[in-house]
Amino acid sequence: MELPETRQAWATLADSLDIRNRAFIDGRYVDAASGRAFDCVNPATGEIITRVAECDSEDVDRAIQSARASFEDERWAGMDPRARKTVLLRLAALIEEHRAELALLETLDMGKPIADSSGVDIPLVARTFGWYAEAIDKLYGETAPTADNVLATITREPIGVVAAVVPWNFPLMMAAWKLGPALAAGNSVVLKPAEQSPLSALRLAELAIEAGLPEGVLNVVPGFGPTAGKALGLHMEVDALAFTGSAEVGKLFLQYAGQSNMKHIALECGGKSPNIVLADAPDLDQAASAAANAIFFNQGEVCMSGSRLIVEESICEEMIERIVAHARERAPGDPLDPATRLGAMVDADQMERVLGYIEKGQAEGARLRVGGQRSRVDSGGSFVEPTVFDNVSGSMTIAREEIFGPVLATIPVSGVDEALAVANDSPFGLAAAIWTRDISKAHPAARRLRAGTVWVNCYDDDDITVPFGGYKQSGIGRDKSLHAIDKYTQTKTTWIRF
Ligand code: NAD
Repeated sequence: MELPETRQAWATLADSLDIRNRAFIDGRYVDAASGRAFDCVNPATGEIITRVAECDSEDVDRAIQSARASFEDERWAGMDPRARKTVLLRLAALIEEHRAELALLETLDMGKPIADSSGVDIPLVARTFGWYAEAIDKLYGETAPTADNVLATITREPIGVVAAVVPWNFPLMMAAWKLGPALAAGNSVVLKPAEQSPLSALRLAELAIEAGLPEGVLNVVPGFGPTAGKALGLHMEVDALAFTGSAEVGKLFLQYAGQSNMKHIALECGGKSPNIVLADAPDLDQAASAAANAIFFNQGEVCMSGSRLIVEESICEEMIERIVAHARERAPGDPLDPATRLGAMVDADQMERVLGYIEKGQAEGARLRVGGQRSRVDSGGSFVEPTVFDNVSGSMTIAREEIFGPVLATIPVSGVDEALAVANDSPFGLAAAIWTRDISKAHPAARRLRAGTVWVNCYDDDDITVPFGGYKQSGIGRDKSLHAIDKYTQTKTTWIRF
């Protein structure tokens, strides 16, 4: 499909959008029962885009009832997997067809560059639905090795009503990682997008109906965490809840499950991922370019961002100089300009949070090498310069807490053993990388790094075929790949005696 090529063309398209701003329950758009709505703000300008229905427990309950009814009458779960595949492939095609519109919704809503939303996010969303559509009629059950007078089969069944609660950094992609496998497996879903970024999910629901998804199978309830999110977590009719967001809120969902019906909980939480560069890295230019991308892509609002650069002392200065040069090339710009590589932070709160961490870094003795300031103040938006610190020690706040912004903490180390000790000294374990040309260092290091993904001589390489998720407080369970289907199915043993 053709995409607009200039800022002006994207802005013109934005003006013509018919933005969906009501909840999607039982196959149609509805207002919140309370009649309340909240402001949806463009973080690049500070302007209100629209007002979105503010769902609370009453709306959540309606959405769950709709999902429950659609699950119980098997209008989706009872369909032949091949038929579900056809619908989801149609949805993938519709997402591709509406790539410009959906990308624009993401960019207006949360500030990411249009080049990323149209070139990365939306194509990956379409691929995710397509991949799970293709997978679902190729999954077989098992026959157990029992005695001759018994047939014991092990089959997968959908869990039932799945709630998905997602964050704002990749709004539709995080939703797709849940919806793709959950819907393919035959579940009915209630999706709560983040309050900062509800627009693309609301449009997706309509496209799903157009693709042939039966009414009630996908419901979308925009609203706030402590109301709508909590209501999903506590609801007795939600069988499984898949969450992506902060570790703090992830822990709340474990409590909600304990206080209610022991629903299955899957958590994809935060990270403080180490990117280790040893003196024998094969190519410092490449390592520096990847390190810059690992922290500045998506304004650093990436759960697996390489926010701790752990570098062997002898090459530390060379690395920093290269990364500083990359940072200077990524001055924040208008997200609607296709040339922009670093957009706005999701909102003013997040910008203030990031600036607060930068202040703390300086106060605790880290050395600021580039950036550190708010940018494009006249735009009315929330922009922060790409920022690099060196002389960081593993105990400083900026080395321990997830900043979720374009702020790199560089920690010098004496060699591979210290690098691994520093890398693993974190409550998180989402991802890690090591750069070395020595396989006898790379392989044991990959084993010793406590992280769900380890990259060797690359960072951020990714594909829907591989599982993604965290060790330690980075989460429970895996998104992507066939492993994700485990979260949305339960196995049934059927024991037949002859
Ligand atoms: P968040 O935890 O504040 O919010 C995530 C979702 O939870 C939102 O929909 C929000 O409304 C809801 N929520 C908030 N408080 C709630 C409550 N009390 N009860 C129920 N629901 C509640 O996270 P965020 O600020 O939106 O996103 C940033 C976080 O997400 C970061 O920590 C980041 O690392 C993480 N993240 C993780 C992954 C991953 O795959 N591991 C991917 C993207 C983002």
